[in-house]
Amino acid sequence: MESSRRIDVVIAGAGPAGLATALFLVKNRPSLAGRIVAIEKSAHPRFKVCAGGLIPKTMLALDELGIALDVPKVEVIRGEAATPVGGVDLSRGGEVLATVIRRDLFDSMLARTASEAGVEIVERSRVLDIVQDASGVDVSTEHGIFDAQILVGADGSGSRVRRAVFGARKETIGRALMTDIAVDPERTPEFTERRYRFDFRCVSRRINGYSWSFPCLIGGAPHLNLGIYDQRPREFVETGGEQSRMIAELVAAFPEIPLDGLKRHATQWQSFPIRWFDAGDSYASGRVILAGDAAGVDPLMGEGISCAFEHGKLAANAICKFLDGDSGALRAYDRALHEGAAGKKLSKLAFAARHFYSPHHRLFFRIAGISRRAQEIGVDWYNGARHLDEVPTRRLIARWARAVLSREPVR
Ligand SMILES: Cc1cc2nc3c(=O)[nH]c(=O)nc-3n(C[C@H](O)[C@H](O)[C@H](O)COP(=O)(O)OP(=O)(O)OC[C@H]3O[C@@H](n4cnc5c(N)ncnc54)[C@H](O)[C@@H]3O)c2cc1C
Repeated sequence: MESSRRIDVVIAGAGPAGLATALFLVKNRPSLAGRIVAIEKSAHPRFKVCAGGLIPKTMLALDELGIALDVPKVEVIRGEAATPVGGVDLSRGGEVLATVIRRDLFDSMLARTASEAGVEIVERSRVLDIVQDASGVDVSTEHGIFDAQILVGADGSGSRVRRAVFGARKETIGRALMTDIAVDPERTPEFTERRYRFDFRCVSRRINGYSWSFPCLIGGAPHLNLGIYDQRPREFVETGGEQSRMIAELVAAFPEIPLDGLKRHATQWQSFPIRWFDAGDSYASGRVILAGDAAGVDPLMGEGISCAFEHGKLAANAICKFLDGDSGALRAYDRALHEGAAGKKLSKLAFAARHFYSPHHRLFFRIAGISRRAQEIGVDWYNGARHLDEVPTRRLIARWARAVLSREPVR
């Protein structure tokens, strides 16, 4: 029988969730250096289908980890959203709304930082199977078996760990597709005005999501990343031509961008599933916990990088306590993902998705547009600016209601 290697923590997947968990672990407890292994099926720098928009919440997490964002980036300071009932200005007086990076360089920067801090990353190796008992977890990989105290499933939307330990539930998997096109920055408002654009008008045509246009740099050259998110699980989507319908909606959202020519070139589009948060799920079972897309991220926008960091921080705290002998620490992680600030934010986003993506969506878009000040609170809350998303719900509602009642006109 193949011999196994004993280790404290095995992390399946070296994307943002796995690497954030590892980075918070070595930050909290430097003595764990050399005792954490991340298993990654690919090798950094690896391509990831993602628009790479980092909201301010993610920037706060990077600050907390002492990581300088040392990759090419575009800082977006203006934003607009088209909705079925009119346009919304998302700008916040010149504050950065998002920092757009490319995932290959961002993730490999995180991986390098983690390696330098003493995290071992085993690349080109897949997690294959998981067997746990009261004394530990056996994790079979393409590079041998690890006998770990704890396994973190951070292996993305199609998580092998989730399937093996928590079952294969697919009702909460939506998807997004995207493409990149080279642009002249002098003639492209996304660059001249440093803005991003969202378009929710497709909700009226039964797509539960929105199209986006982000400025970004690929190999130093200005590009637009254009994409469309649909929260609906595959079972609820009419079969046949579903991808071409999404592309048609994206083309309709940005008619001035020459996307039409790409329509027939399937290879120019990349699509990927997004698992979103559902309060009915559990995120800990015995010695196995889930983080990032494997657990479930923002159902409204499909944003997941800030969740990956938030989960990573909570997971690292729980793991340190567990290794110190607190046998309830991993169950507490599960509770934090349901009842803590992160869980409450995701529950509110799930609530918003149920209403904004419902047959009554026009009413909810109208309510959201009632007051400019209320919109600003909503944008700051979503972005986690100045930790507003951690303010207790009652105080937040009181602030929002005061803003709505003051009825400041929408700018
Ligand atoms: C088109 C699109 C656009 C998006 N745009 C944004 C955006 O602008 N901003 C934002 O915040 N979020 C965005 N997201 C969501 C974001 O990409 C994810 O939420 C984020 O990548 C989650 O990080 P993660 O570490 O949980 O998973 P991943 O980034 O998927 O990382 C999982 C890692 O696990 C590895 N892996 C998988 N299976 C195994 C296995 N069996 N064994 C070992 N390793 C394995 C994978 O190779 C991967 O490296 C977008 C998603 C899509 C599809």
